[in-house]
Amino acid sequence: MNTSGKAPRVGAVKQITSHANPIVKEIKGLIAQRKHRTQSGLFVAEGLKLATDALEAGWDVRYLALGPEARENPIAQQAAASAKARGALILEVNTAILSAMTRKDNPQMVVGVYEQKTVSLSNIDPNSAATWVALDRVRDPGNLGTVIRTIDAVGASGVVLVGDCTDPFAVETVRATMGSLFHVPIIKTAKDAFLDFAKKWPGPVVGTHLEGSVDYRTADYAEPVLLLMGNEQQGLDASMTRVCKTLIRIPQVGQADSLNLAVATGITLYEIRRNHLEL
Ligand code: SAM
Repeated sequence: MNTSGKAPRVGAVKQITSHANPIVKEIKGLIAQRKHRTQSGLFVAEGLKLATDALEAGWDVRYLALGPEARENPIAQQAAASAKARGALILEVNTAILSAMTRKDNPQMVVGVYEQKTVSLSNIDPNSAATWVALDRVRDPGNLGTVIRTIDAVGASGVVLVGDCTDPFAVETVRATMGSLFHVPIIKTAKDAFLDFAKKWPGPVVGTHLEGSVDYRTADYAEPVLLLMGNEQQGLDASMTRVCKTLIRIPQVGQADSLNLAVATGITLYEIRRNHLEL
């Protein structure tokens, strides 16, 4: 029941046929530039699956653009009805406009614009947390998206982005999460605040490092675990390394100097979460 005295916000449907429409320009800007996403607090996710995930997980939708195919698709129609009931503006567009918006020859039939959501470090209660993953200056959107997807798959608690990281709401990151973005809490923080937080963590603070002295299969992962992963080029920063109680290494035998960040995170998370994942 709405007890605020205000009528609930109900969205509308708008047909757009012009490439010069300001909403088309706004969506293009959100896809192209981080500064537009930061200023507006909005982001774009392409595809019907992501729209369904976002709506089911209760994220706020600003616009849902539907191409001609989506207007014939019952699941897309259901998503549109649900978004509209929650105040979104439904945009009916042709394929050329969808293409222009997303700069793709074969655009998805649905493109959504959502409100960004992050949590703050102070919202984490380590005593009720299981496994948080902290990424030190992650730069590659595909890596970040894959890590978020893996955190979701293993049922870990969330991701902390430490320092100057790639944007979790960039369209490439969102795409790589395959919808897990809508299920995994994201924290953005400066390094100093993170170091203070890590020093007070009640469980193992585990860093992954090429020079780690402990085999990742033998480390102590008694919950709550705080797992630290390093930057793609430079690895873990020295101050981040110092805050770790254990530095673990994943053995390698070939000529590769290291594993890809997302692969290393996946291998480690499956070990940490092993007891939660037995079939
Ligand atoms: N040149 C970088 C270095 O010196 O650390 C390589 C970084 S690696 C591409 C990115 C991150 O993945 C590392 O900082 C670490 O967190 C993790 N990683 C990759 N391979 C690893 C391994 N064999 N053992 C432990 N961690 C690893």
